[in-house]
Amino acid sequence: MIKQKIKDIKEGKLNAVDNIKGFLDKIKKENDGMNIVLQINDKALDQAKEVDKKIKDGDGGKLAGLGFLVKSNINVEGMMISCASKTLEGYNGVYNARVIDRLIKEDAIVLGMVNMDEFACGATGENSAFGVCVNPRASDRIPGGSSSGSAAGVAAGFCDFSLGSDTGGSIRNPASHCGVVGYKPSYGSVSRYGLVDMSMSLDQIGPLGNDVEDCEVVFDLIKGRDENDSVSRDFDAKVGKLNGLKIGVLNMSSDKEIWQLVTDRVHEVIKKNSWNVGSFNLDYVDLGIQTYYPIVYTEFFSGTRKFDGRKYGKKIEDVCGEEVLRRIIGGSEITKAEHGGRYYHKALKAKKLIEKEFEKAFKKYDLIIIPTVPRLPHKVGEKISVEDCYNYDSLTVLANLAEIPGISIPVGDVDGIPVGMQILAAKGRDKFLFKVAREFEK
Ligand code: GLN
Repeated sequence: MIKQKIKDIKEGKLNAVDNIKGFLDKIKKENDGMNIVLQINDKALDQAKEVDKKIKDGDGGKLAGLGFLVKSNINVEGMMISCASKTLEGYNGVYNARVIDRLIKEDAIVLGMVNMDEFACGATGENSAFGVCVNPRASDRIPGGSSSGSAAGVAAGFCDFSLGSDTGGSIRNPASHCGVVGYKPSYGSVSRYGLVDMSMSLDQIGPLGNDVEDCEVVFDLIKGRDENDSVSRDFDAKVGKLNGLKIGVLNMSSDKEIWQLVTDRVHEVIKKNSWNVGSFNLDYVDLGIQTYYPIVYTEFFSGTRKFDGRKYGKKIEDVCGEEVLRRIIGGSEITKAEHGGRYYHKALKAKKLIEKEFEKAFKKYDLIIIPTVPRLPHKVGEKISVEDCYNYDSLTVLANLAEIPGISIPVGDVDGIPVGMQILAAKGRDKFLFKVAREFEK
């Protein structure tokens, strides 16, 4: 989709100002009842005018004139970086995250900052201090999270694409519930410089879009080594052959209707391409959630110590919501000196075991497939337990723990509620994953 628009803008069939104005008008008209966008970039139109001048002179960038929305935990100079928390309400970014710089360099335009679960803690969008946003594809259901506004913004037609962050599923989960595509890159392939981190061992920034190709176009421009993020690196972009692929369907528990949609699609695609498919089990993957949370609690607790109200914002414990407080208290407990780091180290060991299991599986299979989320999103306002909330991510945390790339693509719906399917590839094989994921798109 965006490739065509880029071409149209280049050929003068559409200009940046009209594109950006179209989105801003739509947001102004519809966002009030939807709560997707927390802040509009009031310089966006002037920036679009500048971009139109550049296009006229023949030096427009690769995304010249496109508009994107940004999760409120990614720094954009002059915009409100609230992380959807009262802690940072009114705090404005003083620099651009690396991903933002890379997109602006290509003349893409920030449309605004979007809603999310507070500090990226959550899987439903309900933990935002500013209230949950609407799921445009199933309005009585939660949008998913934590990148709720990034997914809902694409589904609502408020932008060409958006950026989210994914620690344990926060890009793929809302993409699945809102019926759009969401991409979690290999750990280290996209710089996190300028991301307000939740868990440094797991976080990745990634794109959400209307289709696989849109996400790939954006990924190609944000990826790569950045000296300000020491874990960032360049992976080999080789795609390899697409014939004779072996697809592994990993046995994991999820709702029956969801599995049905996923396996139907898999069989359609392997038949068309004459690929092979097999189902298999992996050790330790049922421990994903138990492994994920001690790591997150520990790293989140440590990361939030800077929000003590002295330098900026308010003291986090004084104003944050229930889930953020749970993680801070939990993190402070399990990291107490008398435990000698026992829980954190054990969780890191389990993470390594899961990583090794996947490495083994990728010797046998080129791709691994599972549903994105094991159940349908609950109704807005319905109360669910903390355990049920954590279990929303039982199938997405695996990619973060194994440091591998994962994409969620729409695979159909159950009674009108969108369902996503997850495709996983070996670490660093992002370009290969994009190529095959297109085969699974309708
Ligand atoms: N829902 C998971 C959590 O609450 C994942 C969040 C994320 O990926 N940022 O930790």
